[in-house]
Amino acid sequence: MKAMVLNGKNQPFELQNVADPTPGPGEAVVRNLACGSGLTIQHVRAGRVEVDYPRIIGHEITGEIVAVGEGVTNLAVDDAVTAYFYLTCGHCKWCLRNRETLCENFGGYVGREVDGAYAEYMKLPAKNFIKLPKELDYKSHPAEVGVICDAITTPLKVTKRARIAPSDTVAVFGAGGGLGIHMLMLAQWAHARVIAVDIATDKFEACRKAGADEVVDASDGTAVEQLLELTDGQGIDVAIDFVSSTQTLEESFKSLGYGGRMVTLGGGGKNQFQADGGPMLYKELELLGSRYATKQEVIDALNLVARGQVWPLVTETVPLEEAEAIHDRVEKGLVTGRAAVLID
Ligand SMILES: [Zn+2]
Repeated sequence: MKAMVLNGKNQPFELQNVADPTPGPGEAVVRNLACGSGLTIQHVRAGRVEVDYPRIIGHEITGEIVAVGEGVTNLAVDDAVTAYFYLTCGHCKWCLRNRETLCENFGGYVGREVDGAYAEYMKLPAKNFIKLPKELDYKSHPAEVGVICDAITTPLKVTKRARIAPSDTVAVFGAGGGLGIHMLMLAQWAHARVIAVDIATDKFEACRKAGADEVVDASDGTAVEQLLELTDGQGIDVAIDFVSSTQTLEESFKSLGYGGRMVTLGGGGKNQFQADGGPMLYKELELLGSRYATKQEVIDALNLVARGQVWPLVTETVPLEEAEAIHDRVEKGLVTGRAAVLID
């Protein structure tokens, strides 16, 4: 099959012919129609996340099952599917509690520890494929449907984790990014007042279209003051930080009002920040981390899109063979919403 392969750290994709995958027991093979090209996988392309080479990346897919291995009962040939990004065991205490992202036997990620979807076919454990709702017209919109499993699902989980409610004011730090834009969408879907915070002012129009009621230009370092002003000095209810640099984490914390919740899900979890115990106690603040989502949340996100409640923002698609060009644009922050590759 044709595949775009990474053969070394920060080396460009190479179009290669590699062996077609065949499913072993408990596995299935999908024919990929489209795959999202987000920052998560660009971190691998750029060598910031190291993997064993050669490696095929990509996990946000629309596809059709072409083969199932021995013992697979949850899938059949021709089923339309998307994929679950994490390799989890399904039987540890966290998997059983529907908190699979904390799996004790975590096996890594699709497109990092095992080959992903920048290829004609992809083999995964059958339990990593999730069937698409019949109402979802994946043939007409393969790119949009493909990105639901991360770009809609990850923000959907945040709305639950931060318990976003209609009377909340929600600020999204890094709102112009691929996940940030979709977070604005989901926060609006949850009926909150939504504020986009970013330094990329050229993304503000897209932020407003996606659901932001107001925008804050954080480039002069006054995000906290602007958020306090927009809330008459009260502070915001929920800060969601997709940047999660030391600066934005501290700005998120300082922007919180009474009962505020702060969610970090960016920066690779690498950055330290200082938070004052005084406001944390007296305002009863909650500092939360959020990683990806559960399979049920992927199913929920698919159903939300199938019912027309939200619609993924894919602004650029290219054939698989042109993945390098689209990743260059992702790296430079030039893509609004999501980009995707189409595979035929
Ligand atoms: Zn587990």
